[in-house]
Amino acid sequence: MVQAGQKRLIIAIDGPSGAGKSTITKLLADRIGYIHIDTGAMFRTVALAIQRAGVSLDDRQAIEKLCKGCTISFVRTDGCCQVLLNGEDVSRAIRTPDISLLTSTVSALKVVRDYLLELQRQMGRDGGVVLEGRDIGTVVFPDADVKFFLSASAEERGRRRYLELKARGEQITLEETIAAVVKRDRQDEGREHAPLRRAADAIAIDSSGISVEGVLERMVKIIEAKLEGQGARVGAQRPMENC
Ligand code: C5P
Repeated sequence: MVQAGQKRLIIAIDGPSGAGKSTITKLLADRIGYIHIDTGAMFRTVALAIQRAGVSLDDRQAIEKLCKGCTISFVRTDGCCQVLLNGEDVSRAIRTPDISLLTSTVSALKVVRDYLLELQRQMGRDGGVVLEGRDIGTVVFPDADVKFFLSASAEERGRRRYLELKARGEQITLEETIAAVVKRDRQDEGREHAPLRRAADAIAIDSSGISVEGVLERMVKIIEAKLEGQGARVGAQRPMENC
């Protein structure tokens, strides 16, 4: 655990879909006793709300109103992190292939980004957090204490996503999953507002062929080195009441 009285860091983990951000971010946050904030889940939740309400993506005012009426929160139950939309557990509903693609489109809308930017900054501003997303190190917390950019080849990322989706019973082929990952990459990198890109000062880690533990250990070492200057260290886990 990070020792009391020291500065609690803001750690940013960005990268394309399927790079292993969620798995690594959760493990890292648990390991160092920080809170984990999955900003992709927040964008997914807004996309779900828009889909359910049947609002046109061209109707900026309706989307702004919808965003303002959404309460998005994270709770930890039995060791699992759940995402709540106005109190309803939508953790599963936001992980379908349809919602993944819709989210990539919805997240390009400035009105949605502005709304979630504010929320993400509020959630992370006191530190002691690991945030995962696409623009954490570039836009949300450009002064984050430690920034990582996690990537892997499109084939490897598609394969990981495919296994996840199959395990959940989704009817999809490997080729379709890789194509969807590539399409999302293109949309996320090519959008006007807060595109996916590596911050100049982010540490790049290619997770292809490296185990989750290997990536985790590398990150922990870097964070330890950062904390060393402050006379602190990373150690045992602490029980977490939040995600
Ligand atoms: O990380 P995840 O795959 O759950 O993210 C879903 C989508 O949300 C991404 O494809 C991206 O379009 C969007 N997103 C974003 N900015 C973030 C996090 C996610 O635009 N910080």
